[in-house]
Amino acid sequence: MCQVSKGIKRQMQNNFFGIEIGLIIVGIILLFMSLGPVKAIIQQLPVGKVQTRWKILSILIFIFIAGYIRYSFLHGPVTIHSIADLVVPWIFFGGAIFVFMVCSLSLETAIDLRRIFLLEREIITDPLMGIYNRRYLDRRLTEELQRARRYELPFSIFLLDIDFFKKINDTYGHQVGDMVLKKLGTVIVDSVRELDVVIRYGGEEILVILPNTTVVHAVELAQRLRRKVEETMLVGSDLKENRPAIYITVSIGVSGYQFSGDGDTAAAIVERADKALYQAKSQGRNRVISSNDHDEFS
Ligand code: GH3
Ligand code: MG
Ligand code: MG
Repeated sequence: MCQVSKGIKRQMQNNFFGIEIGLIIVGIILLFMSLGPVKAIIQQLPVGKVQTRWKILSILIFIFIAGYIRYSFLHGPVTIHSIADLVVPWIFFGGAIFVFMVCSLSLETAIDLRRIFLLEREIITDPLMGIYNRRYLDRRLTEELQRARRYELPFSIFLLDIDFFKKINDTYGHQVGDMVLKKLGTVIVDSVRELDVVIRYGGEEILVILPNTTVVHAVELAQRLRRKVEETMLVGSDLKENRPAIYITVSIGVSGYQFSGDGDTAAAIVERADKALYQAKSQGRNRVISSNDHDEFS
């Protein structure tokens, strides 16, 4: 009888040992597998605090793996008499599953967020000029308006239109017209300040939002931009096509948020800039007009 019970006990110990070995091996594999997503996240992140934290986490995972292996060497089959002795291997195993899930979910979340970010950017970007499109205008103007009202900060806009652009299309073709628009987008973005928002308002009309800027200052910036465009060769000459280098001029209407009265609206601000632009066109083009006084600044 005693021999039989000893045999059963040994058999049970063998089974428990098998479970322990299984938990340890799968746990170690899971921990090693967690390092893959962590490495991918580190590679995607720019150098900085967050990247350093992920590097620290990968070191902690290595320490966890070392601890795991060390534990399994210390506690061999001799200690396993019952299922209760498997509590620690189970906890280690659960920890490995937890680490693996957190790391792989973090990577999947990071990929999803990046996809959403790129999609959102694509939705609000004009593919030809590489600047914001009109979809972004309402949202951004509303935000600026709220900020202006809450903190009593000024903001201005200017509406820019290419002079005689139709002539460029008619003379050199639509493709060259597109090249002009593309280059103009770059010139404007490079000329305005980083906080200014450049939006393609219509075909060849560009609206720039200038946060925290008075109309007087906006006129100065518009004037500087007008000169810059005038001086810049937008498309080089092409001897084969018998086409000279292309330069253009622009007319700009400036308006700004008005603090007085019941409060200004986005539509009214754009309408005033549009009227000022119309004035600039009718006064001979290649000039900047402010909606404040319709003075000429050329
Ligand atoms: P003005 O000085 O009065 O503004 O004259 P304009 O010829 O520039 O003005 P108009 O509004 O008559 O013409 C705008 C032209 O812009 C007409 C249109 O074919 C052209 N246009 C609009 N969008 C695009 C585009 O995406 N690519 C090209 N190549 N041309 C465009
Ligand atoms: Mg035009
Ligand atoms: Mg136009």
